[in-house]
Amino acid sequence: MTTLWPRIEPLLAKVQKPARYIGCEDGAQAPVHAPHKVAWLLAYPDAYEIGLPNQGLQILYEILNERADAVAERSYAPWVDMEALMRERGVPLFSVDTHRPAAEFDLLAFNLSAELVYTNLVNCIDLAGVPVRAADRGPEHLLVAAGGHCAFNPEPLADFVDLFVIGDGEEVVADITEVVREWKASGRTLGSRERVLHELALVQGVYVPSMYDVSYEGERLVAVTPRYADVPERVEKRTISDLNDWPYPKNQLVPLTEVVHDRLNVEIFRGCTRGCRFCQAGMITRPVRERSSAQVRTMVSRGLERTGYDEVSLTSLSSADYSGIEDVVGGIVNDPVCQGSVGVSLPSLRVDAYTVGIASEIAKVRRTGLTFAPEGGTWRMRQVINKLIREEDLYDAAESAFSQGWQRMKLYFLIGLPTETDEDVLGIAELARRCVSIGREHTNRVTVSTSVGGFVPKPQTPFQWFGQDTVGELSRKVNLLRDAVRRDRGVALKWHDPRATLAEGIASRGDRRLGPVIEHVWRAGGTFQEWSEHFDVRLWEDAMAAQGLSTDWYVHRHRAEDEVLPWDHLSAGLHKDFLWQDWQEALRAGGLEDCRWTPCYDCGACTGFGIEHVVAATTPPAGGSQGTGQDLGVAASSVPVAFRSGTGKRRQGAAFLTQNGVGVGA
Ligand code: SF4
Repeated sequence: MTTLWPRIEPLLAKVQKPARYIGCEDGAQAPVHAPHKVAWLLAYPDAYEIGLPNQGLQILYEILNERADAVAERSYAPWVDMEALMRERGVPLFSVDTHRPAAEFDLLAFNLSAELVYTNLVNCIDLAGVPVRAADRGPEHLLVAAGGHCAFNPEPLADFVDLFVIGDGEEVVADITEVVREWKASGRTLGSRERVLHELALVQGVYVPSMYDVSYEGERLVAVTPRYADVPERVEKRTISDLNDWPYPKNQLVPLTEVVHDRLNVEIFRGCTRGCRFCQAGMITRPVRERSSAQVRTMVSRGLERTGYDEVSLTSLSSADYSGIEDVVGGIVNDPVCQGSVGVSLPSLRVDAYTVGIASEIAKVRRTGLTFAPEGGTWRMRQVINKLIREEDLYDAAESAFSQGWQRMKLYFLIGLPTETDEDVLGIAELARRCVSIGREHTNRVTVSTSVGGFVPKPQTPFQWFGQDTVGELSRKVNLLRDAVRRDRGVALKWHDPRATLAEGIASRGDRRLGPVIEHVWRAGGTFQEWSEHFDVRLWEDAMAAQGLSTDWYVHRHRAEDEVLPWDHLSAGLHKDFLWQDWQEALRAGGLEDCRWTPCYDCGACTGFGIEHVVAATTPPAGGSQGTGQDLGVAASSVPVAFRSGTGKRRQGAAFLTQNGVGVGA
């Protein structure tokens, strides 16, 4: 076995946080490599403490290592101090499991969850000793792959990545392994790289940029066309139908050093049908697939027993929407394994689904962090973004929490949303202020942390046509808010740097012409751009200017209905006409109710894949609309929604609510 450990170990005394590079976590694997096995290096292009908890990476790590024909190890972007030493001493990118050089793997596969890590991805390829541009690679080089939410517009990275995985990774990694295993067995002869990429382009859910030609007329993208007749014109995402078939990770990694989200994480469902129009994750992961409550309980009790954690997070895009959430939380809190000492946290809580029942169950053990994301400051704004929670919902949630002993609450908002006025922005201050005064009725030590981020329109969402606010406009709105809360004790305002929002906007909706921009920023030293101490907007502005590209055109311009978008040849399952209609509805401030419990709007996510929403509970909540809390001691929100009927393509005879966790096909 080739190990770089003797060359890595002497560097550790010279860097911050050496534990980032040693591996040895509980749950880490040291797989045995062999010529007949496909070797995957799963890489997270950010610092170890951000990447280690990533569930997507850990799931694939276990699934691949269970296969007889594959091995998987992990790598994270070395921090700048370690990178400098590695370059000085000629140490390439390595795995943290067996400290094997990256170049000895067959695939270097990145998990992409944020656009500002793109320059880190290029840096990792370079550190691996592989040409950064895919076109310069030969049969001796590994294949560079990427997946994750950002892969739904992969074009800015098309110059660097050989293949993208679109959608869920659990099944498709097996298909990729089989194609690459045959390529290895054939001896990777000259010219075979084109052949293996062609083969991979035929796998559902795999997009190979080099198999497509792109044409422009002036600034406009005109078409993205397959180069071979058998390569699909449109790449459909992969969707696993039943989460119960994938109870991973079974052995969550327990780090030796501090990391984010350092607790047991159990995914309780995937997908979201609330239809928040700004939310890419919600749109691209439909339909909803819940894990059965029995499996959740088993994963929690086994995980706690094995890891020794005293906190479990039940993860999803909107955890309180899980059918029967109170039973699951109560079951965990009262489980003998937990002995009354395990805290439960529910990230991504919707305020309209947060009840006294949930609050009191969680408070039985420990008051874990409490974060709500109303996103918009006024009801009108929240109708535009389709986050249909009313002021009363938020105040009820605040009352539930503060009455159960919480003293701190975090609120997240976006500014720069479509149709936003100053009144909407100032509504944020008003909501925070009211939450503080509700808390004061129970305690004098109330803090409401109010975080404000600039909105970046994302591909595959109804807001994909919207022109993003400029840095000047976002800064003006931040200042408006700062002035508004200046005298409010108890409201702690934080905001995201509008210049970072601009850079994110450049990378989010770019086309292939953004490749040289990303390379320019990287060559100018711009790594770790999502870290404020390393972010430099001038690098992005210089790079755009050097390529003759207009920031106004890429970021701030509204798109027209008939415009070819750089990601139109990739399908998240959503019909483009559904997204356009929803965008028009947004401009009219019209809401659209959760389709899990109402008639289908035929967005395409279920009808296109033959999978319906899978819920664990046997009956929908009282009133037929999830999360109103009517039967749970909190006033139901009679939301005045402008209901839209389905688009008329609804499948005949299909049950829209699939029960008992079965739900495959109709
Ligand atoms: S196809 Fe219908 S039920 Fe399925 S996510 Fe779309 S709107 Fe909802």
